[in-house]
Amino acid sequence: MVEYEGRCMKCKDKRKMVDPTPTEIKPGTWAVKGKCHQCGTNMFKIIGKEKPKV
Ligand SMILES: [Zn+2]
Repeated sequence: MVEYEGRCMKCKDKRKMVDPTPTEIKPGTWAVKGKCHQCGTNMFKIIGKEKPKV
């Protein structure tokens, strides 16, 4: 399992993503959706053209 980090808007810092889920935000562009491991706020990280492995 790959771990993802994103910027949490609530913590205003980098946080590990819990429950990362690949999402195709537009054709050919993938992102990972998840939650901040500290406060549970939804997080989002754009990955690029390759489908992220989770
Ligand atoms: Zn947070």
